Amino acid sequence: MNGLEASSEPVLRFSIFAFLLLFLFFMELASPRRKALYSKSKRWITNFGISATNTFMVSVFLPAIGIGAAVLSQHNEWGLFNFIDLSPWISIPLYLLIFDLTFYCQHRLFHSIKPLWKLHRMHHADLDYDLSTGIRFHPLSVIISSLIKLSLILILGPLAIAVLIADIVLNTTSMFNHSNWKLPTKLDAILRLIVVTPDVHRVHHSTDPSEFSCNFGFNFPWWDRIFGTYKAQPNLNHPEMKIGINELQDSKSIEYLHLLAQPFTKD
Ligand SMILES: [Zn+2]
Repeated sequence: MNGLEASSEPVLRFSIFAFLLLFLFFMELASPRRKALYSKSKRWITNFGISATNTFMVSVFLPAIGIGAAVLSQHNEWGLFNFIDLSPWISIPLYLLIFDLTFYCQHRLFHSIKPLWKLHRMHHADLDYDLSTGIRFHPLSVIISSLIKLSLILILGPLAIAVLIADIVLNTTSMFNHSNWKLPTKLDAILRLIVVTPDVHRVHHSTDPSEFSCNFGFNFPWWDRIFGTYKAQPNLNHPEMKIGINELQDSKSIEYLHLLAQPFTKD
């Protein structure tokens, strides 16, 4: 896999995940943006339980889907990038950009099509906002995302290393931009020019409809600025803004089994 042994890929992914988890955990403790309103241990058991379920589901039903599809595309010279024979220096950044734009579009679809919203709202129903919110997605929505990613890989034919980098960047930014880390104001102002910061994405988790229909971006903040969905700050300040979904403000929203069933319950 372009110098990277396939067997070392899960180790690399897990090492980065573990490092990031520890780093953000300490930054949230050292410099929290908001006071937690609900039991952190209960939320974390639920959110990490959901994440473990997703890892299991994807590894059972869609094993190594992205990397496998990329290797197959390279071998058979499928996809746009192979057709126009792009150099890795262009194809890797280009894949990262197109991948992020695809996830921005997918995220808007998950908000605008009702059955998809019922899957995505579990993520928004978290009652506090911290790094564990960034790994809390319904298993069915993860499978849909994986199939969209598979389609993109087969259309573009990126290098396997590009697919791995995009996956790691997405997981990293998702945990970072959902974290409860209060970045220094000047650092946030610089970082938000190139990456979605916690203060940018938190606006998207507001109960206020005018705010949760903004800031859909995952890695890069540019799509929101280009398509007019960027909102710099919440109407209230960050410590006071209300997080979650107005109709789902009870403690069931942090119960594992209730969350798995939530897409199938009545509105
Ligand atoms: Zn959303």
